Amino acid sequence: MIHQKLHPSLWADTSTPRISVDKLNTHTRADVVIVGAGITGSRTALELAEQGLAVIVLEAQEPGWGASGRTGGQVNPLAHDIPEKICSYLGEKAGMGVVNAYAKSADEVFSLIKKHKIECDAEQNGWLRVAHCNRAVKQLESMSSAWQKVGLDINYVEGNELHRLMGTKTYDTATLTPKGGSVQPLSYTRGLCSTAMRFGARVFGHSPVQAIERKGSQWLVKTESGSVDTEWVVFCTNGYTDNVLKGLQKTIVPLVSLQSATEPLPQEIYDEILPEGHTYADTRRVIFYGRKVKDRRVVFGTLGVSADCKRGSDIKRLYSGLAETFPQLKGIELTHKWGGYIAHTPDVLPHLHEPQPGILAGLGYNGRGVAMGTVMGRVIAERILGKSAEDLEIPVTNYSNAFLRHFSDVAVKLAVPTFEIMDAFERRFT
Ligand SMILES: Cc1cc2nc3c(=O)[nH]c(=O)nc-3n(C[C@H](O)[C@H](O)[C@H](O)COP(=O)(O)OP(=O)(O)OC[C@H]3O[C@@H](n4cnc5c(N)ncnc54)[C@H](O)[C@@H]3O)c2cc1C
Repeated sequence: MIHQKLHPSLWADTSTPRISVDKLNTHTRADVVIVGAGITGSRTALELAEQGLAVIVLEAQEPGWGASGRTGGQVNPLAHDIPEKICSYLGEKAGMGVVNAYAKSADEVFSLIKKHKIECDAEQNGWLRVAHCNRAVKQLESMSSAWQKVGLDINYVEGNELHRLMGTKTYDTATLTPKGGSVQPLSYTRGLCSTAMRFGARVFGHSPVQAIERKGSQWLVKTESGSVDTEWVVFCTNGYTDNVLKGLQKTIVPLVSLQSATEPLPQEIYDEILPEGHTYADTRRVIFYGRKVKDRRVVFGTLGVSADCKRGSDIKRLYSGLAETFPQLKGIELTHKWGGYIAHTPDVLPHLHEPQPGILAGLGYNGRGVAMGTVMGRVIAERILGKSAEDLEIPVTNYSNAFLRHFSDVAVKLAVPTFEIMDAFERRFT
C-alpha cells in the first residue's frame, strides 16, 4: 500500500498537532489489536487502555487519516429512520438499544471531551434538519413525533424563526435537536487517540494490516514488516474497509462525501449566518449540510462522485449548493475542498459483527459516525470486557450484503446526478 499524506483540508490546517507514530517493525503481543485509528478505533482503544488492557492500534496511514479527520464535524444524535422501523429490523429489545444509543450519542461525545479535556472546539448549540420540499416536511413531522415519544428532545422550527436561525430564507421548516453540536473532527480524533496512548495504548502508523490468521486459541495479525499475537482483533475501518476480513467489505457501500470551507467572510455576513451557532443538514438525497467555524468561515458539504474533490461537477455542486442555501455567499471563494468515504448500509443503521470468536467489526454509520462511531467504540470495548452480546446497546448482527454492491462503481457514481435531478424536481414541484 502506498503511504499517503494527510489529505489537505481546513481541519488539517487548523488541528491540534499531528500524533507522531512509528511503523510496526517487530513481532509483539497484545490483548487487543484494533485496525484503523479513526473515531471508532481510537474510542475503542481509549476505553480498553483505561481499563488496563494491552492495546495495539494498527493504522494504514496516520491517526485521523480516514473519514474521521475529514468530516463536517457535526454531532447529530438521530438515526435516519423512526424508532418503530429500527425495532422492526432488529426486534424490540435490540432496536430500542440502538434508538437510545442514538438519542444519548451527542451527550456521550461532549461528556467524553470534557472528561478527557480534549481540545477540539466542541460546541453543543443544536442541530437543524431542514426540509428541502413539502414531502420532506411530512417526513420531518413523523420523525420528530416518533423520536419525541422515545424521549429525544426534538422540536419544530418554522417560518421567520427558522429564517433567523439559518440566516437565510431558503428553508421554511426544520426540526431542531438541541443536543446536537460540532467539533473540529481531526482534533477530536487525534485527542481520542492521544488519550488512548496516555493510558498505554500503542499506536502504529503506516502499518496496514495485510492478513489475520488463527493461531491456536489466539489470532496472528500481520503487517508488511511486523506481526502481533492477540486475543481479539477489532476492525474499525468503515468506508475504507478492505478485504482483510472476509465478507466485511460487501456489507457496506462506500459513498463519497465532500466538504468545503469559504474564505474568511466579512464580519456582518458571518454574524448573519447561523447566528446561534447551529449546525444544519437538509433532507435532499444529495444532502446539503453546513456550519460555521471560528475564523469567520462557513463549512459546507454535499455528496459527490470523486473523493479527491477535483472533479468539475463536484466542485460546481459545492459552489451552487452554497449559493442556493446562502445567497449572500454567491461569489465567495472556497479556499478548501476535500472529500472522503462514508459507509452506507442496506438498513441505514450501524452494525456490530462478531463473525468468529475474537473478531469484532463496528461500521456503517451512513454519514453520522462522529456521534455513533464514538458510541460504537464504547460498545466494542464493553463486549471485550465481558458484556454478553445480548446486553449490548448495539446488537451483534450477521453480515448483510449491501444491495448496491451488485452494481459497478460507475453505476453507484451515476446515482449522484440522478438523485440530484430528483431532489431538484421535488423542490420545485412538491
Ligand atoms: C467528507 C465527509 C464528511 C462527513 N461529515 C460528517 C458529519 O458532519 N457528521 C458525522 O457524524 N459524520 C460525518 N461523516 C462520516 C464520519 O466521518 C464517519 O462515519 C466516521 O468518521 C467513521 O469513523 P471510523 O473511525 O469508523 O472510520 P474512519 O475514520 O474512516 O477510519 C478508518 C481507518 O481505517 C484505516 N484502515 C482501513 N483498512 C486498514 C487496514 N487494512 N489496516 C490498517 N488500517 C486500515 C484507514 O486508513 C482509516 O484511517 C463524514 C464523512 C466524510 C468523508
